[in-house]
Amino acid sequence: MKSVKKLMAAAGLVSVLFLSACISNNESSGSGEGEKLTIGTEATFAPFESMEGDKIVGFDADLLDAIMKEAGIDYEFQNTGWDPMLVGVDDETLQGGMAGITITDERKETYDFSSPYFEATQVIAVPEGTDIQSGEDIKGMRIGVQNGTTGDEAAQKLVGENSSDLSKYDSSAATMMALQNGDVEAVVTDIAVAQHYVKNNPDANLTLIEDEDNFEQEYYGMLLPKDSEHKEKIDEAIQAIMENGTYEEIYQEWFEGTPDIEALESAQP
Ligand code: GLN
Repeated sequence: MKSVKKLMAAAGLVSVLFLSACISNNESSGSGEGEKLTIGTEATFAPFESMEGDKIVGFDADLLDAIMKEAGIDYEFQNTGWDPMLVGVDDETLQGGMAGITITDERKETYDFSSPYFEATQVIAVPEGTDIQSGEDIKGMRIGVQNGTTGDEAAQKLVGENSSDLSKYDSSAATMMALQNGDVEAVVTDIAVAQHYVKNNPDANLTLIEDEDNFEQEYYGMLLPKDSEHKEKIDEAIQAIMENGTYEEIYQEWFEGTPDIEALESAQP
């Protein structure tokens, strides 16, 4: 009798061990079977992303980390540069891009985007004392833009497609250097990046001109391959961190004021 009990107890123990082995196996496959996404960026776009030593820092870096933690997705953030990022997400050697990327209809033909996470628009940067009031006034000036961006598009709308008055650069930071060097007379770039630059470079003596008539409202989203299997999880995570206060916390580390989360949640760019 005793030995039968012992045998049953042993069998029970074995099945408990077997079960727990199954559970822990499930857990490890639940976290993506060791899959690690590579997310590209162009890290000269402060305060969204810039290099601090070999680390990418900024609002996008912090937000991406919060999104991926919430979504339970393992990832690596890589400074690929703007054009390689766009190519990489298209051919899926990269699984995403996070670089203050504006959600546009044209890009939506090639890519998916996460839900919007930041509101933006274009702005004109000029040396202080330049007599301009709006986009109309930069017609005929030498204008610097970052190639292939919404600033590039907005400037082309003003001065004509591929106008010879446009000088194209690889980054927004390079357009600002060109403005400071006098290589261009005006720059069209994203407002939060321009504001950050002006604030941190008071000796550059630049001023910013806003123009709601010529520059549309834009929204940033995370760039994803078309039909990305991760979009749903990422969107759910964005919603969760907007609702649990994490988004606002990160926002306030990099910007002044409070974010209009309701406007972001209802935006349909
Ligand atoms: N928001 C702009 C765009 O998407 C610029 C982005 C950037 O230069 N990183 O075109």
